[in-house]
Amino acid sequence: MNDGDRSDRFETLSVTYGEEPTPGAPMTGDVVSPIHLASTYALPGLDTDMSLEDLDPSAGDFVYSRLSNPTRHAVEQRIAALEDGEYGYAFSSGTAAIFTFVLAVVEPGDHVVAFDDLYAGTRRMFENVFQDRLKLDVDFVDATDTANVADAMTDETTLVWMETPTNPRMNMCDVRAVADVAHEHDARLGVDNTFMSPYFQNPLALGADAVAHSTTKYLNGHSDSVGGALVTDDDGVAEEVEFLQTVGVGDMLSPFDSYLLMRGIKTLPMRMERHEANAMAVAEYLEGHELVDAVHYPGLQSHPQHDLAAEQMSGYGGVLSFELAGGIEDAKRFLEALEEFTLAVSLGGVESLVELPAGMTHEPLAPEEREALGITDTLVRASVGVEHVDDLVADLDRGFDAMVDGAEFETAPAADD
Ligand code: PLP
Repeated sequence: MNDGDRSDRFETLSVTYGEEPTPGAPMTGDVVSPIHLASTYALPGLDTDMSLEDLDPSAGDFVYSRLSNPTRHAVEQRIAALEDGEYGYAFSSGTAAIFTFVLAVVEPGDHVVAFDDLYAGTRRMFENVFQDRLKLDVDFVDATDTANVADAMTDETTLVWMETPTNPRMNMCDVRAVADVAHEHDARLGVDNTFMSPYFQNPLALGADAVAHSTTKYLNGHSDSVGGALVTDDDGVAEEVEFLQTVGVGDMLSPFDSYLLMRGIKTLPMRMERHEANAMAVAEYLEGHELVDAVHYPGLQSHPQHDLAAEQMSGYGGVLSFELAGGIEDAKRFLEALEEFTLAVSLGGVESLVELPAGMTHEPLAPEEREALGITDTLVRASVGVEHVDDLVADLDRGFDAMVDGAEFETAPAADD
């Protein structure tokens, strides 16, 4: 949490917060905090208090790097400030951040309500680890309608887990309304805010109890680090997460990745502005194209939840998905012809990426699960980067030309007709 006389403007926090010289360290004048690689730290004496709760990294108390590390601590402080939360934790992946949080707030036999439209890895974690192995009772519901969340709640529900917007259909839930439902049942609400980043959405301010990020995506922003973060204002959650992160699970972001993440965050506001401007232009272009059946982007008036997006987010982000006309072979021809958009999973980096969820990220789901989520064979997800938008549109044209030229094109007239 940012307090004192410091500015709390997002752009300023992104560049400087948490990066003060380490107390007690020699003053070298570095304007960028060093990467602290040491796994252990010299102690002042034998009477040093080593209990976890008494160690204060902000005061320079470092004992062992799994427990706390100055570079990791700095980036944890910064992410907490950007989400305007009290406690921040950095993990070795977004998956680890979500796993540690869930483990921190549930007990055997508890009931969990989760959005049915989650990142496929998170959904598999809930199904295969928490449900099948740890015997939690998990209900997946269409949370675009808060009434479905309310209907699924039971006396045993301790956690509601949402992701908004979702991957890849860009569905949303009303975070404030879902938080009210969760709290009426004394359950906690956790929200995966990866797609919007703290620049465009702050779930804690909307009533969530914890917010998670795959920092691999927008927060780091350069596709060169895998990491995760968790921010909360809840003392009880913080205590459990801290115990699990440092002792129970032992999962934390490495010093080098912490440095990369810190460096990436400095340009988050500028990147997000450009991601959004480019994504909006690409979405509008696709919406007007005859070989596109549907475009899913919260910034478009045609998105069924556009009003909710405008209310709970301050921007619409850089990810969109669209359904191509034709069949899977047409979609493959389209994707393989692209030169600026790289065919790859993941999102949120400065470079534009595309993927085919039915054959890549969501391939592990059963076909009927994909169908229920609206993931058709020609649904393409694009993470729109910060390149010149004219080059991106020209690239998409290249893809459409390849579709039309394709010998097996299934719906549009052949080019020479
Ligand atoms: N949450 C969302 C929305 C994601 O898209 C992803 C990965 O794609 C994750 C969580 C998992 O993050 P990581 O790959 O850093 O473990």
